Amino acid sequence: MSSQKKRVLITGAAGFLGSHLCDRMLADGYHVIGMDNLLTGSISNIEHLFPDPNFEYYHHDVTKFVHVPGQLDYIMHFASPASPIDYLKMPIQTLKVGSLGTHNLLGLAKEKKSRILIASTSEVYGDPLVHPQSEEYWGNVNPIGPRGVYDEAKRFQEAITMAYHTFHGLDIRIVRIFNTYGPRMRVNDGRALPAFFSQAIRGEGLTVFGDGSQTRSFCYVDDLIDGIYRLLHSDYTYPVNIGNPDEITILQLAEEILEIVGNPDAHIDYRPLPKDDPKVRQPDITKAKDKLGWYPKVERSEGLRKTHMYFKSVVQ
Ligand code: UDP
Repeated sequence: MSSQKKRVLITGAAGFLGSHLCDRMLADGYHVIGMDNLLTGSISNIEHLFPDPNFEYYHHDVTKFVHVPGQLDYIMHFASPASPIDYLKMPIQTLKVGSLGTHNLLGLAKEKKSRILIASTSEVYGDPLVHPQSEEYWGNVNPIGPRGVYDEAKRFQEAITMAYHTFHGLDIRIVRIFNTYGPRMRVNDGRALPAFFSQAIRGEGLTVFGDGSQTRSFCYVDDLIDGIYRLLHSDYTYPVNIGNPDEITILQLAEEILEIVGNPDAHIDYRPLPKDDPKVRQPDITKAKDKLGWYPKVERSEGLRKTHMYFKSVVQ
């Protein structure tokens, strides 16, 4: 009976992470209301859910007043451009969804007495001076640089969410998401992993920015979703890093993808490093282990293999 199920609103439902969250919440017996304005999301990520009577889709921009009829037990706010080229192209929308959009959803959570989980990011640490990054680190962010629109929107999002908790007693959860990969990443979203896979499959140059010595730590999407699910159901109201501490250089990632794809025409093509590109990034996941009993399980070789299968099916 659909009406007896717990009801969750997921914003950014047609995006990479939002669509995987919809799958997980439906599989675990929730009624899911997915919301998206399709600015960067794609209906193809959720069209398999349309026949499910426990799934509803609302086409809506959360920077405008959000109305959802009926009870809402949980709200998960995952709407936002999330790739550096997207937030360079859409700086105002990026700022608005993190600020006005979050404010609307906090208001909705207060009205419906819902628990709200917001998607924050490792970008709150900026170009970090502390390595690896624990939740206690306050970050090193250039507010007026190209990444400032995303980083500061997410920092404001954390601040206003915590203020609603402190002043209105709202039940909040904050996840700081580190680089994540897997099926349903947009082929042309500009991030390193989809760029490298599509370039390698097409037999083109893999556009490594700078000398490729900058590091990232990549988490497979199933692990990330499991961490978020555990956080939602925990009683911990402070930010928690969810990511895989498996740190590699971007050049090493490009070389591994060249090897997996095995296209003899593909090669490394060095390009200039974008401004304010973080030099290192690695999550300290002590808190996730202690508070949630969570740690990533998917090895990079397995995650990259599954992701290769996906990109092979969608890259033209
Ligand atoms: N990068 C790259 N080539 C690309 C896209 C990105 O070398 O085609 C680099 C980028 O400069 C950064 C790293 O890969 O150092 C990860 O970038 P991405 O956009 O995937 O995510 P970020 O962690 O920077 O948000």
